[in-house]
Amino acid sequence: TADSTKSFFRRNAFVLFTIAAVLLGIILAFSLRPYQLTYRQIKYFSFPGELLMRMLQMLVLPLIVSSLITGMASLDGRASGKMGMRAVVYYMVTTIIAVFIGILMVIIIHPGKGSKDKLHREGRIEQVQTTDAFMDLVRNMFPPNLVEACFKQYKTQYSTRVFTRTVLHSSNVTAGVTTTQIPVPENFTSILENVTHALGTISEVLTFEEVIPIPGSANGVNALGLVVFSMCFGLVIGSMKQKGRALREFFNCLNEAIMRLVAIIIWYAPVGIMFLIAGKILEMDDLAVMGGQLGMYTLTVIVGLLIHALCILPLLYFIVTHRNPWVFIAGLLQALITALGTSSSSATLPITFRCLEENNGVDRRITRFVLPVGATINMDGTALYEALAAIFIAQVNNYELDFGQIITISITATAASIGAAGIPQAGLVTMVIVLTSVGLPTEDITLIIAVDWFLDRLRTTTNVLGDSLGAGIVEHLSRHELDAQDCELGNSVIEEK
Ligand code: ASP
Repeated sequence: TADSTKSFFRRNAFVLFTIAAVLLGIILAFSLRPYQLTYRQIKYFSFPGELLMRMLQMLVLPLIVSSLITGMASLDGRASGKMGMRAVVYYMVTTIIAVFIGILMVIIIHPGKGSKDKLHREGRIEQVQTTDAFMDLVRNMFPPNLVEACFKQYKTQYSTRVFTRTVLHSSNVTAGVTTTQIPVPENFTSILENVTHALGTISEVLTFEEVIPIPGSANGVNALGLVVFSMCFGLVIGSMKQKGRALREFFNCLNEAIMRLVAIIIWYAPVGIMFLIAGKILEMDDLAVMGGQLGMYTLTVIVGLLIHALCILPLLYFIVTHRNPWVFIAGLLQALITALGTSSSSATLPITFRCLEENNGVDRRITRFVLPVGATINMDGTALYEALAAIFIAQVNNYELDFGQIITISITATAASIGAAGIPQAGLVTMVIVLTSVGLPTEDITLIIAVDWFLDRLRTTTNVLGDSLGAGIVEHLSRHELDAQDCELGNSVIEEK
């Protein structure tokens, strides 16, 4: 048995390292907290974590492009069409279920209970047309300049982001002290005004300390645009037979090389995650903030996400594949922890690839194709969160939503989750679309900022889980096509010989 213990450790080394790193990070952070490090010291301290984040992000762009092109090129048109359909159906169904759970939870638990304020602001709220939001989404799919799409995220007209440290207090909600990226309607001054003018909900802005632009990282890749382009490009070079061969080989090689880089970075991942988590805990405010409505809200989101991630998705996986979902999820552990640590599903993508291919043995033709698309458009956690948060804000404002408005919220929350980039707190930015579609005040996003960094991590983990189980499900459903293709390849090898 000494041998079997050894081989267990060898097989699970990374997961064990990662779990140990998380625990160590938590212990380290809590033992440093009494020293009340300054913001700058905390940033120095979490530098190794920032490096991990940057390394992973570095790989994302070539990984998305090369894996999608190779994935599409290696399937014949009909097979990829069928798989594509299955993936899209899976994304849609799970996102709609997620939105539904979010709405159900927030209505049942009613975390916004007890507000006395009434929303009297319809008159001055700028209503953004839902159509505009959809058009933005579609615009994003077709980047006019591919090179620009690689480093610049398409901006909707609503999202300017600043990095602020704020202390907000209010009569019935204490938003608390928070350091976060917040979306503001136009610029920073306008949010200051909005916050100070927010009727009754936030009565006082105590301090606005450091205003720091997000360090070089507004971190734009127009992933959606690149996904669409790469898929089309892959399909085309796949159909070009002999002529397309050089390109197919090029991208195949590129993909292979990137995955080898992933295999190297993965050694550093536990260290990075340890510092990411420790840094965040050091930065975190005292949990007193969690009282009252905001605490109930946090709880509601957690319950919703848990139901979706631990009941609905595994059940769906089981129903379709008749396999044990927990075995599959165990293989994903490292990706899930990375999602928790980085709060970015696109930064986690390289690790997700590795977990699915190495641990769970999912066919590469599937992962290459389903994962990049999933990480870009399939965000169950974000969809659930956005619908829930919008209704919470309505509750806090004592604003009765009618059935039509709830439907509008579900549709815009779905669109917003598709449009959100897989980067930290992107969901908070696209919230603006959901709120404005039913005339809720966007400045009330400030009410939920204090806890967003935390909820963001949970919804990112849910997003990654959804994509991964989706890959398993699509693989299972596509067995026939994959087998048929294997046969064909086998035959052609024999013929060549
Ligand atoms: N951070 C999330 C992700 O990367 C997106 C969000 O903010 O909801 O999946």
